[in-house]
Amino acid sequence: MSKPLLSKRVLGMVEAATLGMAAAAAAKTAQGHRVLNLSIGEPDFDTPAHIKDAAKKALDDGYTSYTPVQGLPVLREAICEKFKRDNDLDFEPNQIAVSCGAKQSLANIMLAMLDPGDEVILPAPYWVSYTSLITQAAGVPVTIRTDVGADFKITPDELEQAITVKTRLFLFSNPCNPTGSVYSRDELRALAEIVVSYGGLFVVSDEIYEYIHFGGADEDGHVSIGALDGMRDRTITVNGFSKGFAMTGWRLGYLGGPEWLARAVAKVQGQFTSGAAAFSQVAAAHALRSDLAASYAMRDTYRRRRDQVMSGLSEIPGIETTRPQGAFYSFSDVSSYYGKRVGERVIKGSEDFCRYLLDEANVATVPGAAFGDDRCFRISFAASDADLKEALERIKGALAALQ
Ligand code: PLP
Repeated sequence: MSKPLLSKRVLGMVEAATLGMAAAAAAKTAQGHRVLNLSIGEPDFDTPAHIKDAAKKALDDGYTSYTPVQGLPVLREAICEKFKRDNDLDFEPNQIAVSCGAKQSLANIMLAMLDPGDEVILPAPYWVSYTSLITQAAGVPVTIRTDVGADFKITPDELEQAITVKTRLFLFSNPCNPTGSVYSRDELRALAEIVVSYGGLFVVSDEIYEYIHFGGADEDGHVSIGALDGMRDRTITVNGFSKGFAMTGWRLGYLGGPEWLARAVAKVQGQFTSGAAAFSQVAAAHALRSDLAASYAMRDTYRRRRDQVMSGLSEIPGIETTRPQGAFYSFSDVSSYYGKRVGERVIKGSEDFCRYLLDEANVATVPGAAFGDDRCFRISFAASDADLKEALERIKGALAALQ
């Protein structure tokens, strides 16, 4: 028997379902259908002009070469200022590691911290790439199931019950993709107390949606778990430019954490991609040090759309949802539709549900199964008000036909 051409690693990898849905939507569009795409995890805004201008200037100033793997000093200093200003986190530039996107920072952390069999606790639903990044580093994802009634948040008891001698990391996104949930200061404090009581356990706090925070969960707005008592040396805070600054294509992320970790992730990254693009970094330093008005204007638009999606969903029977406090997604339990049918077609789970919406309503969404919760589906509101309105009407119509 001949050996397969591809490695077991790649053959065992799942392709992100978000990409699968985008491809199915593109195929329908190519057939001439007007597909409304609510599957996208990317701001529908362009990068603010002042940041683009800073990149153009950086190119003219000669920022075209390799960069130090940990990041240009100007950006690491700006990140330290940002962490202090926005998050009450004290870091020195040698505790910062810049990467080609928050996703790379997460991959670097897994490769730097996990030995085979080490466990990473993550609340489900989780961002699609977490489990793959953990297993690629030979780690074991340990999920804690949450549900709509609990605003998709875990309790300190649930966290404690998931901890074993093999637990290395607790990884979560706050605000959360896919649920839009935001932990309040008190909720974070209760989780932090558990973490602090287990030596050797670190938190990876993915705060990429920090600037898309609608308020309400906590009077202080966004709270970083790393700023809470005892968490300073136990937290790795991951962030990036893709969401809050609409800079997905610039490929720039970063982390702040213990110096030994920043050095270790740079060692990993040095063998994979080297340092992030020079002119992106110079422009990003400018973005962090500038007025955040453009980011807040985008946030206000997402908040308005959140309200629009909430009111659209409330008119559809059988959907249970939460009120997202951040990011640009709503995640709803639609399991009351499972077992229903139109003709021969039976909805058996979230993939059938989303496939049905694509086929019958020409609306692309993402099955909850991709995020570890088959009861639900995700709508992205990184789409125009008009498309959101029409999409919700189409979804309502298609679901009404199910019996
Ligand atoms: N973390 C979460 C929770 C995300 O939703 C995403 C992108 O969708 C990322 C990280 C990756 O961000 P970046 O573009 O910086 O790699």
